Amino acid sequence: MSSKDERMVLPDVLPLIPLRDLILFPDLVVPLFVGRERSINALEEAMRSEHLVALVTQKTAETQDPQPGDVYEIGCVVTVLQELKLPDGTAKALVEGKQRIRIKEFVSVDPYLQVRVEYYEDDEKADVEAQALMRNLVGDFEQASELGKPIPQEVLVAATAIEEPGRLADFVTFHLSLKVDEKQQILEAIDPKVRLQKTTDFLRKELEILEIGSKIQNRVKESMSKTQREYFLREQLKAIQQELGVYDESQAEVEEYREKIRLAGMPESVEEKALKELSRLEKMPQAAAETSVIRTYIDWLAGLPWQTEDEEKLDLIEAEAVLEEDHYGLEKVKERVLEYLAVHKLTDHMRGPILCFVGPPGVGKTSIGRSIARSLNRKFIRMSLGGVRDEAEIRGHRRTYVGALPGRIIQSVNQVGTKNPVFMMDEIDKVGMDFRGDPTSALLEVLDPEQNNAFQDHYLEAPFDLSNVMFITTANLLDPIPPALRDRMEVIHFPGYTEDEKLEIAKKYLVPKQVKEHGLTSGRLEIQDSALHEIIRRYTREAGVRNLERTIATICRQIARKVVEGKKGKTIVSGRTAHKYLGPPKFSFGLAEKRDEVGVATGLVWTEVGGDVIFIEATTMTGKGALMLTGQLGEVMRESAQAAVSYIRTNAAALGIDPEFNEKLDLHIHVPAAAIPKDGPSAGITMATALVSVLTGRSVRRDIAMTGEITLRGKVLPIGGLKEKLLAAHRAGIKTVLVPKENLRDLDLVPEHVRSEMQIVPLDSMDEVLRRALVEVDSKADKKNKKK
Ligand code: ADP
Repeated sequence: MSSKDERMVLPDVLPLIPLRDLILFPDLVVPLFVGRERSINALEEAMRSEHLVALVTQKTAETQDPQPGDVYEIGCVVTVLQELKLPDGTAKALVEGKQRIRIKEFVSVDPYLQVRVEYYEDDEKADVEAQALMRNLVGDFEQASELGKPIPQEVLVAATAIEEPGRLADFVTFHLSLKVDEKQQILEAIDPKVRLQKTTDFLRKELEILEIGSKIQNRVKESMSKTQREYFLREQLKAIQQELGVYDESQAEVEEYREKIRLAGMPESVEEKALKELSRLEKMPQAAAETSVIRTYIDWLAGLPWQTEDEEKLDLIEAEAVLEEDHYGLEKVKERVLEYLAVHKLTDHMRGPILCFVGPPGVGKTSIGRSIARSLNRKFIRMSLGGVRDEAEIRGHRRTYVGALPGRIIQSVNQVGTKNPVFMMDEIDKVGMDFRGDPTSALLEVLDPEQNNAFQDHYLEAPFDLSNVMFITTANLLDPIPPALRDRMEVIHFPGYTEDEKLEIAKKYLVPKQVKEHGLTSGRLEIQDSALHEIIRRYTREAGVRNLERTIATICRQIARKVVEGKKGKTIVSGRTAHKYLGPPKFSFGLAEKRDEVGVATGLVWTEVGGDVIFIEATTMTGKGALMLTGQLGEVMRESAQAAVSYIRTNAAALGIDPEFNEKLDLHIHVPAAAIPKDGPSAGITMATALVSVLTGRSVRRDIAMTGEITLRGKVLPIGGLKEKLLAAHRAGIKTVLVPKENLRDLDLVPEHVRSEMQIVPLDSMDEVLRRALVEVDSKADKKNKKK
């Protein structure tokens, strides 16, 4: 505080330092950086004398070299408390404001500014008006702090303690964020009351701004959604609990779950359900047995891909390229698949029939499914329905069951992790049905695009949207598929491969794949065509290529072992050396080599592993006309055998059979490969032929295979699966096949070279069949027969 004595010694002329962007008030201590040469000179001059400097602010901060007209008239005289010279020639000074001054005139400009000044002194007494003004100002200052202005507590306390009106105004002004010219206005207000008034005005303005700011903030807070706020508060609570050391593990777990649920992207109703379960968990004692049930449940809910999906790209050209790249042949199949995808592209959704691939094992059904997924950029998942007998396997068990889990559909979707995979359901023809319930209705719901957008799993108790899933089903046979399901599906037949196709597939796909999978190279192992032929003919008998692939793998495994054991160079496997790796052949090729026999006829069947060649045996025993059938024959096949017997009894005389045979003999028909269930009417003519053969003693030509249904009048009716059967006959090296005349139209489906290498004889009566299939009367056998 300037006292009268001090004023006495204050000099008239002072060195001057112009300030940029800063106004200094009396009684305040501030650090000052001095950089300009003339200012440093002025500072030095002050240090040489009484440490006093006039500080006056520049009108514009940018002026580099201020002249007399560039600074304000009113400023502040300060005492330099400390001076510190910095190595770069500039200086730092700590100064304390003393009194307001007014520049009367500039005494000199160089080497520093020097001014003659007039001093002002504040009236220290505060009258009532001043006191009122002061109280207002302090009140406003406090309010500003409450509204969020960052004013340190000690500054507020200091403000309350100030008694001099002018000084209070200066103090408050210094702490406000005012512009330089506004602060200068306060500095220039010499009368303390005017100064207080002005400061109050500025402060009020600032208060208004602060108020608006806080209003905006409040509004923002209100618009924060309820869940966000809850989240925010919980985070705070967590932090507080952690700080207090009362944060426990179970709480942490609950929080973790809450976060998981929040991020899972569930529909609102499901999220609500999950949160409800969570609050149950929260209230339960840790050790309660049910907590683990609830945990598992929430894990399931939160883990499902409610929102996650792969971005689909569908470019038909590319899809075609992918299908071609992965598969040899299968032209018709590829065409149908591409048509299906084209429709999907045009309609942009998964409505419409579900694809159903029907064919024997190993013909590429799964593999085409995989390629579809790849060409659509979707994930691929398979699930087998074989042996599923219980609806709960599809839909899950209710949570009240001990160890309940979601059904296989939800499990698969969870496993694949996206909501739009290509989902292959295998063996839809093997879905069982028994006292535990019928899974078909659940499957219907899954596969129905009208219903599957809210698929109900018993365990989840919440609808899950399956409408983006692309379902494909597979089956070995079409007939066993429940009709309701069949209606919904677009069936694509996979017929099985011919020998040549198998060879191509092996050369182009299977061998390179297995060689690579076994860590070998073509420089290490060569499997020659002759070896592949040998494998196809003598080591496998199948419609597909699964065993072929497995057999190739067997060879690769052995070579891999030899390489590891140190074998150098390349191993060549040929037709002649194949047995070294594979043991003796498992099948004999070329059935024509076998002898003709009495009572054995060559038939063609169509089972779930594709077409096959079978030898139906018939024999007679002394008895009373009983008919025995063995070999796991289905109902239809048994009836077909009855029909064959009735036909023979009716036509016995014409066939050269004792019309009374039925009184003296029992008949037995056996269809070998007894472990494989067989059904269908197509073995009718074969059974009849075997019976006639045994009853007449005429042997049957082994190299003729036949297929066809028989009527009581000896008509030959058409059958299904002709293509598969002919392929099987071709594989077995059969040269002549007797087929129902009405099946001729199906011949177009059979590959050209198969047709050209076999004689396919269309027939429509049993007489013709017998004429072709039975060899001329063998007198020896005839006699033997008659003896019975
Ligand atoms: P399915 O599902 O019909 O039982 P897979 O798709 O599993 O048969 O096929 C068995 C193996 O044969 C797979 O390794 C597959 O890649 C291969 N394969 C089948 N058909 C072809 C084909 N036309 N071209 C190339 N590889 C094939």
